[in-house]
Amino acid sequence: MPREPHLHAFGFPVRFELWFWISALFIGLRGADHIGYALLWVGLVTFSILVHELGHAFAYRHYGTESSISMHGLGGATRAESAGHLHAKQRIVVSAAGAVTEMILLGLPAWILMQTWSPFGLAGLVLQWLFWINVVWALVNLVPASPMDGGHIFDELVYLKTGEHKPTLVSKVSIATSVVMIVIGLLNGLTFMAFLFGYMIYINLGRLGIVGNQASLTPNDAGGYLDRNGTYHSPEPRTSKRSIFGGSGKSESKKVTPDWAGAGFASLRSNNPREAMEHAANAIRTSKKVGERRLAGEVIVWSWLHQNRLDRANVMFEDLDSPTLTLQAILRVENGDDHGGIAQLAAAVQAESDHPSSIEAVLHVTRSGHLKMLVGCLLAEGTPAAKGHVVRIESILSANNLSNESAEVARLH
Ligand SMILES: [Zn+2]
Repeated sequence: MPREPHLHAFGFPVRFELWFWISALFIGLRGADHIGYALLWVGLVTFSILVHELGHAFAYRHYGTESSISMHGLGGATRAESAGHLHAKQRIVVSAAGAVTEMILLGLPAWILMQTWSPFGLAGLVLQWLFWINVVWALVNLVPASPMDGGHIFDELVYLKTGEHKPTLVSKVSIATSVVMIVIGLLNGLTFMAFLFGYMIYINLGRLGIVGNQASLTPNDAGGYLDRNGTYHSPEPRTSKRSIFGGSGKSESKKVTPDWAGAGFASLRSNNPREAMEHAANAIRTSKKVGERRLAGEVIVWSWLHQNRLDRANVMFEDLDSPTLTLQAILRVENGDDHGGIAQLAAAVQAESDHPSSIEAVLHVTRSGHLKMLVGCLLAEGTPAAKGHVVRIESILSANNLSNESAEVARLH
């Protein structure tokens, strides 16, 4: 959390953004005809969302990572210090923990009291609102629309089912869900809900590269995307705001490789994986930037591959928050799926050509004997871009003193 927290709850720092109060009050004033009731609503909604976020925070703590909470215009977000080691099932538990916690602690008791006691007046209103926020909205939060909790759960379920993250599919499903929710909202006079899901559509159109020139990066955002130029943008670090390489987020497509990473990849190329690993381990120790730590993790996987330690590479890869498509493809090849892996790699090296891993991948397949297959895949595509990439492979090889291989690629096209 970059700025000072306003309070600590159970050891979790909590920060309130101005927009949180504004939007809570706005909804309160629309629903209540008296400023006192509106303030009561704000109090209940603040308390309920805090309980929801604490559900996420305790789930993270259970899995060994601390987190911080921010309350913003559209609810709250809980950001883990490091969630890279969490597996898909654990991420699902963390994502579901918010809604489940508020339902059990607040929504269900309110509902039981409403049924057994059926109070009138102020008490009745409080119970009704608690039920509304902690059951109805908690369920709305679980519909598959990213970046809400339900969207994350859907994303991880797809991952569990297919073995890979499918950001495009997640965005499309999120848009379809949002359209349905807008219709439901408008038919029932729930303007805020319609507005919220309108915003979800905007975010996901951005991820698909249809509106704006980059994704709308929001807290709890997940999933990379391909922009209109076919450049692959890595997923945001889970539950954190903006920025891949610590910049403002605006210059995402002009990634800068930090010095240590340049040195790490250079060590790999000069066949010194242990040195590369040292560079990366240093970065993990000293850098606070999520993007740099992620890149360091990637260097470590490459280092293990260089040392023919597929077992270690697999374990480290599992821990990576969002590996490049390139590295995913290489591991697929290494784990026995030559054809699927190389086909994926042909797409990945084009989409991620500005990532240092794409050069590493070319050298790696050259060593592992899959170079011809990769070039074949690219040529079979037949597009000028793919052909251009074959030329690029040729120059990568000759730049790394692999003139025989480079000549062989030249003969192929
Ligand atoms: Zn949540």
